[in-house]
Amino acid sequence: MRCPHCGERDTRVVDSRDLDESATIRRRRECNACATRFTTYERIEAARLIVVKRDGVRQEFDRDKLATGLRKALTRRPVADDAAESAADAIEAELRAAGASEIPSSRVGALAMEALRRIDHIAYIRFASVYQSFEDLEDLKREVDTLYAEKGNGGLAK
Ligand SMILES: [Zn+2]
Repeated sequence: MRCPHCGERDTRVVDSRDLDESATIRRRRECNACATRFTTYERIEAARLIVVKRDGVRQEFDRDKLATGLRKALTRRPVADDAAESAADAIEAELRAAGASEIPSSRVGALAMEALRRIDHIAYIRFASVYQSFEDLEDLKREVDTLYAEKGNGGLAK
């Protein structure tokens, strides 16, 4: 690491500190020639995750956009405040664990639906109706019927 003041290459680390729960390390360095102190940051390079849309458009995976979509579906539902955030984290972790650098957007959508299905059925239907753009009421009814059937006797709360 070259000294920003004199350009000397011989510098040493005088202090190291973990930031962002250890995702970043901040180092204070000192130039051995002119004693100038400067700071460097070291971060883990997260592998790029590319989402390929149906029309072939490629976009970097956007965890925040996913969280926003989930949050919207969960609006005013009786769930934990961080339900959308945790679901988005879990989905990102699952996508990254799969190890592929490119994933179809339908995979992200399917994981989001799966997560919402577990968290809250109303949120799931909200999300699914937008995401799957139900062709007509019959499709929507079929989806709701499936949920009822899974819930078993008594069905969803009336
Ligand atoms: Zn220097």
